[in-house]
Amino acid sequence: MIKVNNFDEQQQLGVVGRDPRWAIAYKFPAREATTKVHNISVNVGRTGVVTPNAELEPVEIGGVTVRNASLHNADYIAERDIRVGDYVTVKRAGDVIPYVVGPITGRRTGTEQPYQFPTHCPACGTPLERVPGEAAWRCPNFGICPAQLVRRVEHFVSRSAMDIIGIGEKQAELFVNTGLVKDVADLYYLRAEDFAGMEGFGRRRIENLLNAITESKQRPLDRLIVGLGIRYVGSVAAQVLADHFGSLDDLMNATPADLEAIEGIGPVAAAGIVDFFQRADERRVVAKLRAAGVNLTSAAPRRARHTTGLFGQTFVLTGTLPNLTREQATELIEANGGKVTGSVTKKTSYVVVGEQAGNKLAKAQSLGIPTLDEAGLQQLVRSSEPGEDAPTAPAPPEQPAQDQSDSPKSNEPAESDNPANANDHRTTPGQLSFLDE
Ligand SMILES: [Zn+2]
Repeated sequence: MIKVNNFDEQQQLGVVGRDPRWAIAYKFPAREATTKVHNISVNVGRTGVVTPNAELEPVEIGGVTVRNASLHNADYIAERDIRVGDYVTVKRAGDVIPYVVGPITGRRTGTEQPYQFPTHCPACGTPLERVPGEAAWRCPNFGICPAQLVRRVEHFVSRSAMDIIGIGEKQAELFVNTGLVKDVADLYYLRAEDFAGMEGFGRRRIENLLNAITESKQRPLDRLIVGLGIRYVGSVAAQVLADHFGSLDDLMNATPADLEAIEGIGPVAAAGIVDFFQRADERRVVAKLRAAGVNLTSAAPRRARHTTGLFGQTFVLTGTLPNLTREQATELIEANGGKVTGSVTKKTSYVVVGEQAGNKLAKAQSLGIPTLDEAGLQQLVRSSEPGEDAPTAPAPPEQPAQDQSDSPKSNEPAESDNPANANDHRTTPGQLSFLDE
């Protein structure tokens, strides 16, 4: 997205039809290459979604060597009949993960193997379930499946969550595989003697690690909420929730109606939150965190005006996007504080348009609502991402959340005129989960 930052200049430039004259989506040229599929493997994500991945003969696309490409989901592979051993077209657009477009059937030799999507989780053996209304298959062994647990630990200790230095993917795997960590709260029960005999864990390293873990008990509530890994709840939504409820207990007991009434929390995120805290396992984790002395409250709710992320912006999705399912796009938007609604109105900030867009596109055009394609949406999310130290101006306590829906500025992602954030390409948890799944 290339934009004019100055609000006055934006107003002078105005909007033509559906496009503001002061903003254009800069599209990276999509590039394609042909290569061979050596194998198809699957990854189990943090929420159990099993995603297939093509292991490729390394190929250079636009200056980058590509070894792996997304196959999206089981239906995608079946519909296109992508086989192990096939020569395939691989596409890479911008910094979106490369994906397999389809096989080049003319190059088949007869040795290609049709792919059978696994029926059971490769990590724990549990029969996979279809996510209702989605193409994705999921391991339903939440919280216990070791593959999910490793991802959850990684997420919990990540910089945007509890920020525990000294634990990465390798350590997360080690702790889970040795049975030291059976849920994220177990990190707070690690003792020096647990590491006895583990390679690479000297006295000094153990001491530093345990100190980092202890120190993380004081992280602000919103960081803990991020760390729990609730679907659709990224940094922006977590901050909204921490400020609104002031304690994890109040958040845990919130009803869908309580949550949906909060500006910045959409219905999908609300359902995800209620779902999460209904699970006995998750409530047990919270009890363990509490017993370990982890901070579960927000001492001084900031009641900040949430101007970061996609806060206060409303999106409508129409048509089929090239990479993201409708659910993933919703997840990306809501994890960053935006809302997704079903119909285009004057208050809609953006309409995200895919192939075979319907009436909603026409409606957006007639109302002069700006439209985005998938790449434009991803750019917008990145450019609106709050920096870790983004200043949140304190507002009077009772000031209602900002509603800019009718002002031309509503289409300007907050913070994008802050050069400190403009180049900030850190991945939010929301994005991570979408990449993961
Ligand atoms: Zn599993």
